[in-house]
Amino acid sequence: MGVDVWVRRPGALAGVWDAQLMAQPEVAELAQTALAPVSAPTARAPIEPVSGDVAALWDNLRAEVRTCTKCALHQTRTQGVLGVGPRRVDWMVIGEAPGAEEDRRGEPFVGRAGHLLDAMLHAIGLDRGTNVYIANVLKSRPPGNRDPKPEEVAACLPYLMRQIALLQPRLMLAVGRIAAQNLLSTDLSLGRLRGQVHHFGELNTPLIVTYHPAYLLRQPADKAKAWEDLKFARGVFRQLTDRVGTDGDLS
Ligand code: URA
Repeated sequence: MGVDVWVRRPGALAGVWDAQLMAQPEVAELAQTALAPVSAPTARAPIEPVSGDVAALWDNLRAEVRTCTKCALHQTRTQGVLGVGPRRVDWMVIGEAPGAEEDRRGEPFVGRAGHLLDAMLHAIGLDRGTNVYIANVLKSRPPGNRDPKPEEVAACLPYLMRQIALLQPRLMLAVGRIAAQNLLSTDLSLGRLRGQVHHFGELNTPLIVTYHPAYLLRQPADKAKAWEDLKFARGVFRQLTDRVGTDGDLS
């Protein structure tokens, strides 16, 4: 049931809703707004094909992460999981760490939560095969899906930095408290972090926070709030790309 909320119907509004969600007045009102997908052409120059050198950097990064031994997690995980998506994108989504299915298959967000994440992203015109890159703070699965330890995050963050340098996303979406707190070096609650534009890393990439899809599977009533976050992110993205058209390159 939860997954269906975010499924996109061809030719319909970008957000398509199940009966349970539509029953909430604020969501019904939102669904009145016809939503153009964010993948519509923007002022940014067309994404260039990845050059030979950049492709080699990606290949090295993927190989390093897959066999990384920088923290103790390598003793229990199957493989390090770098990320999924095109190698140059405007949008990047960051979760917490691979789960059991991700550890086995070597791709982030492929379990039940991943299906919901895909549906959420589709609702704003994003697709991991086309225009959004998905990764995690930790590249290796913590045993029993426990929270990441600070030393594990510290060991893994340089990989994320390298990913961001290669991808050069315009906007990052942190899903869940753990990802948000680690990326923003804060212990503020998710509720306090939502609804504003933070910035991350040397490139000062705008970063927006929303709920983790696994949480939304447990608390479907909060899907309406997650949809608000996605609309907010899409609006910020449009502002960023509009400003590029008038003010020059923001990066
Ligand atoms: N949860 C995450 O945070 N990341 C995954 O890749 C899967 C589940």
